[in-house]
Amino acid sequence: MGDLTEQQQKVSILLKKSPLIISGPCSAETEEQVMQTAIRLAATGKVDIMRAGIWKPRTRPGSFEGIGTKGLPWMQQAKKETGLPIAVEVATAKQVEDALHFGVDVLWVGARTTVNPFSVQEIADSLKGVKVPVLIKNPINPDLELWIGGMERIAKAGIEELGLIHRGFSSYGNTEYRNAPMWHLAIEMKRRYPGIPMINDPSHICGRRDILQEVAQQAIDLDFDGLIIESHIDPDNAWSDAKQQITPEVLKEMLEAIRWRKEDVASAEYHAALEKLRQQINQLDDELLQVLSTRMKVAEKIGEYKKNNDITILQTNRWNEILERAVGKGNKVGLSEDFITKYMDAVHMESINHQNKIMNS
Ligand code: PEP
Ligand code: MN
Repeated sequence: MGDLTEQQQKVSILLKKSPLIISGPCSAETEEQVMQTAIRLAATGKVDIMRAGIWKPRTRPGSFEGIGTKGLPWMQQAKKETGLPIAVEVATAKQVEDALHFGVDVLWVGARTTVNPFSVQEIADSLKGVKVPVLIKNPINPDLELWIGGMERIAKAGIEELGLIHRGFSSYGNTEYRNAPMWHLAIEMKRRYPGIPMINDPSHICGRRDILQEVAQQAIDLDFDGLIIESHIDPDNAWSDAKQQITPEVLKEMLEAIRWRKEDVASAEYHAALEKLRQQINQLDDELLQVLSTRMKVAEKIGEYKKNNDITILQTNRWNEILERAVGKGNKVGLSEDFITKYMDAVHMESINHQNKIMNS
């Protein structure tokens, strides 16, 4: 860290902290709002970095598109007053330049930018030779490669401190969430890049206050490295994302109510008990694989009959019957309809593939 300034070293150490807590308004609105939010966030004693959107990529024109560069000195002042490092979203080379000029400590790439390789490349090019941590939000669509590509472009520019933000994925129509979490995608990303911090953004996943706590808890249960949560001194009157913001004091309560879990403990007793259960799981997985393999052999036999009698592989009635039966039985033994449907679908597809081979051999 020899060539880093004192402030850069401080931020660098902070980014390795777990859980890392980032909070602040969706958008910087006024000088007063930025300063008051910063003071109240600092007073919680629980926030590591203050965030605020300066340029807001809005889905449709006519909404508040961010205060722009004039908000950066407000952020800088808030940092000076409270000691909280500051983070903003950047989407163009000019925004990177302005943010760095006003001492922004951490940059993030928004979900609407991660989807666009031209934009990410422009940001990456503007970061050559610069030392600043960059967090990359998942793209709005559930595409892991695009998320990885965004990270690779920034990494190739020489940025060493990278982090990922899981903010959920958009879908058509109204759902419980504003952006479906699709946890498996974040988990897969964590599996592929174990060294890169994964921060959860419950605010943009939920889109509303009442389920923030449970989503944040779920992220911590899944061993995420931190949370980025929007906060505002007057949430209901926020100029953007009003429904999902909370006051710094509510944030504090929320963070106090979270059960922070660790990935591991040193206790030998715990490890012995866990090892036993894990062996059971392995044993059961082996049995499941054996049963599935037997099931496929039976499906192949059916395939032979269908072939000899010139019958189609897919018989919709039979498939409906299998599914209904499985959902009904699954329900009785505590397996959700959603799981059974996905599971049976995968099993059925594998059967079809096996039968396909037989029919065309
Ligand atoms: C934001 O953080 O305010 C924001 C615009 O988020 P996202 O890019 O996840 O939509
Ligand atoms: Mn927002």
